Amino acid sequence: MVKETGFYDTLGVKPNATAEELKKAYRKLALKYHPDKNPTEGERFKQISQAYEVLSDTRKREVYDRGGEKAIKEGGGRMQRERKGKNMVHTLSVSLEELYNGGTRKLSLQKNIICDRCQGRGGRKGAVEVCPCCQGTGVQVQLHQIMGNVVQQVSTLCMACHGQGQRISSKDKCKGCGARKILRQNKTLEVHIDRGMKDGQKIVFHAEGDQEPGLEPGDVIIVLDQKAHPTFTRKRENLIMSMELRLVEALCGFQKPVQTLDNRTLLITSHPGELIKPGTRKCVLNEGMPLHRRPFEKGRLIIVFTVVFPVENFLPLDKLKKLEHYLPGRAEDEDSESMDDDLYFYADLEDCELPRKRHHFNGTEDADFHSGGAIQCQTS
Ligand SMILES: [Zn+2]
Ligand SMILES: [Zn+2]
Repeated sequence: MVKETGFYDTLGVKPNATAEELKKAYRKLALKYHPDKNPTEGERFKQISQAYEVLSDTRKREVYDRGGEKAIKEGGGRMQRERKGKNMVHTLSVSLEELYNGGTRKLSLQKNIICDRCQGRGGRKGAVEVCPCCQGTGVQVQLHQIMGNVVQQVSTLCMACHGQGQRISSKDKCKGCGARKILRQNKTLEVHIDRGMKDGQKIVFHAEGDQEPGLEPGDVIIVLDQKAHPTFTRKRENLIMSMELRLVEALCGFQKPVQTLDNRTLLITSHPGELIKPGTRKCVLNEGMPLHRRPFEKGRLIIVFTVVFPVENFLPLDKLKKLEHYLPGRAEDEDSESMDDDLYFYADLEDCELPRKRHHFNGTEDADFHSGGAIQCQTS
């Protein structure tokens, strides 16, 4: 059943006409109404050409049969887009451990499915008819006379069919869906997280989106969102962590345990005689993240060291002299014995952070600043 017959009428054929019949009818009419022969029938010729252009194209003819002239005017682009339903995007929060070890997560979501009982027709087979109020367009067009001969055209959703374009008498309505054609259903998806997957990676479940009559269902797209980890930061296939060493460990060597993401304990051990400076980066090969699809290859574990110095006065002055004995000698030109007092101004070291804090608390920034400047004048 076609929605309207206007184009067929224009060509003087039945809606079930074959392509050959359409062609013949068009040829005959085009000759008859060609502007060369019939200058007053220009409009008629245009209509004939338009009707044939649509009906001679299988796809356009299908669109016209289903939705009438309106569907054709709304264009092919929209048809294309409407053929597939919307994709549904969900974010799945995952831990770094899950991305390291892989795993399965269950995700329950709600989606529309086509009613089984009526197969999405909304009613008994053959009981669905085109809405007489809107002729199946789902839209009612009203003309409002604003003033004089100015007319405004207003389109509103057809109230009789709620925009469905169809009517089903209440006795024929599907008992399963109440003529809504679709039902809401809970669905559980099993999301397989592969070893080595990344933050922001998409896992696509094809055609698991909402179902709708006449449309191919869209996809469900799961986007992985990695939670921050207290120890490790991931950078591509590498894991980065910081490790705090005491000064004695930095100078004299250390062994420190690190818990891996698959719960092994690595004993990070310095080489004999090795000295770790603050900010040093070292790495452990093959203890980073597994590579996606090549999980037996792993990146590196990169360790960035910080060194904690002992507190002030941790040694009495006499013992400090002994410690100095073991440390590499001072640079020669800094030896105070050889300095000529007359050539130097002695300068005390102060804590840089201190004056700034004072400004902050008592707000006498200007006074402090100027007094500082005054001292500078005296010394120079
Ligand atoms: Zn139903
Ligand atoms: Zn209607």
